[in-house]
Amino acid sequence: MAPIEILSPRLANQIAAGEVVERPASVAKELVENALDADASRIDLDVEQGGARLIRVRDDGTGIPKDDLTLALNRHATSKIHNLDDLEAVSSLGFRGEALASISSVSRLNLTTRARGASEGWCAEAEGQDMQTALSPAPHPEGTTVEVRDLFFNTPARRKFLRTEKTEFNHIEENIRRQALSRFEVGFSLQHNQKAVHSLRPATSETDRERRVASLCGSRFMENAVHIDAEASGLRLWGWVALPTFSRSQADLQYFFVNRRPIRDRLVAHAVRQAYRDVLFNQRHPAFVLYLEVDPASVDVNVHPTKHEVRFRDGRLVHDFIFRTLHRALADVRPDDHKRGME
Ligand code: ADP
Ligand code: MG
Repeated sequence: MAPIEILSPRLANQIAAGEVVERPASVAKELVENALDADASRIDLDVEQGGARLIRVRDDGTGIPKDDLTLALNRHATSKIHNLDDLEAVSSLGFRGEALASISSVSRLNLTTRARGASEGWCAEAEGQDMQTALSPAPHPEGTTVEVRDLFFNTPARRKFLRTEKTEFNHIEENIRRQALSRFEVGFSLQHNQKAVHSLRPATSETDRERRVASLCGSRFMENAVHIDAEASGLRLWGWVALPTFSRSQADLQYFFVNRRPIRDRLVAHAVRQAYRDVLFNQRHPAFVLYLEVDPASVDVNVHPTKHEVRFRDGRLVHDFIFRTLHRALADVRPDDHKRGME
């Protein structure tokens, strides 16, 4: 056996990247999350060749002070939590401090930023084996631009797993759709190979919000959806659920957010399926865009590195609340005998 050695920082990051950076869409997701955590009111995403060549995310958020810039690209470096108590009630999307370090270990990354109130901007480039960062002055408005080029150029095994340009871009678009649905007050744009794909103004009124949902999920969804908004036991559920007149052959139009975080959760999926059980044919899937608001301390988001899963402290309560709310919303379309049976 070879002697035991500590992994080089770059290799350690590349291994960690295996968890968070699966494909270009994961890079886009992490960068947009950082922009949202930085309070951006506008986020522009530019993608070339399905993201394999370039993913650029520009925001008008808080920016990063020059003195923190080198650290930002390091593993386990985060400004979002400081102790275990913070983690218990974390409201930011990020907190692991892994994304930039992981991404920069498997791509050519540069980050240009100007902190709010700072007089000049700075560019940080990750380079070399030891995760050194080179800093140079660079003009930039307040906010941050991160450019990720040539993803997986140094990890050929992973690059091989990239699918076609179109498939990779579809994943990026799906991701942006989810993120744009999670923050109506933020403006988003998405370009692919210099062509505009989405351009979404901040949506502050009810009409604007419905327009955004229609533009992301299709106007047919919106025409067949009912708006719900219910509150009980400290929980609130609001959003849009499609009537059975608009169902899908795949579970591909199902968006669920917990405290504005997009999640996929079996308990939630089960509650929804139960509510639709007697109004949808077998094999058909409901379509919905739903927002659950709960006390942050009653839900654990630190279950998985991609943070798609959550764990509720009182799962039963959440399940029954979702079921009852949706069941009521669908009451008008439920066959009469079922209606009586379920009351
Ligand atoms: P995390 O988001 O888990 O903290 P990241 O590696 O994604 O870890 O980012 C590291 C740190 O860099 C963040 O905690 C934040 O302070 C800073 N940062 C990253 N992107 C941005 C951005 N777009 N605007 C402002 N700060 C950012
Ligand atoms: Mg992050």
